[in-house]
Amino acid sequence: MPELPEVETIRRTLARCLPGKKIEDVEVRLPKLVRPDVATFVESARGRVFGEPQRKGKVLILPLGESSLLVHFRLTGQLVFLSPESAEPAYTHLVFALNGARLAYADLRQFGWLEIVRNEDLAEHPSLVSLGPEPFDLEAEEFYVMLTSRRRRLKALLLDQQFLAGLGNIYVDESLFRARLHPEREAATLSFEEARRLLRVVQDVLREAIATGGSSVRNYVDGEGREGRFQERHLVYQHRERPCPRCKTPIAYKQVAGRGTYFCPRCQR
Ligand SMILES: [Zn+2]
Repeated sequence: MPELPEVETIRRTLARCLPGKKIEDVEVRLPKLVRPDVATFVESARGRVFGEPQRKGKVLILPLGESSLLVHFRLTGQLVFLSPESAEPAYTHLVFALNGARLAYADLRQFGWLEIVRNEDLAEHPSLVSLGPEPFDLEAEEFYVMLTSRRRRLKALLLDQQFLAGLGNIYVDESLFRARLHPEREAATLSFEEARRLLRVVQDVLREAIATGGSSVRNYVDGEGREGRFQERHLVYQHRERPCPRCKTPIAYKQVAGRGTYFCPRCQR
């Protein structure tokens, strides 16, 4: 969290206001958030001009001419563009001064981080080099082969960024419910029809989540400080003990692959 739809929403909102803005200065209030160190980070940022925002998996990539700023939001990171009169979000730890406007990075839990990488080194960067394909770039045949060559449970596999880039706990649970597949089902046992249904559902859920501005659980907001609305459409995530929308069985909750998992014990097989 933020997952693909939230980072994509941040990317789209920043695309409206950030390109062409020059970084006059950077104020780093919490040194551990920047890599490799504050002096190098500030030196590489100052004087650069923001290009068109990009995204890979859950990583936001903000081009700065010959280099790019990578933003890893992890649990509670926020990146908000502020007009001169706007107040900073709570827990702001880093501020880019943009000739009146500002770009603020806030992070309640402080697990996120930012780094500026030369464009020629971007493809080999450790956080990008091992990312699996994005769900939108896959065909059913390809996904079926990927799934059936793995002897792992669906929940663990879909969370694995090297297998598939972009999904986290919310969208894995919502997708498996909609595809009527049990989170503990072994991937290698899926039929082609089930694999095709799962891919279609994952793509639909992500598209719908992007269209509604992402899910605001915890403290997620977009690049202009607005909350998303997809949490209102969650069918199982954080719905423990509430009736399944399909069969009325109470939604179950248990640890799967080390993560709290919501599913219907009756209609997910
Ligand atoms: Zn059910």
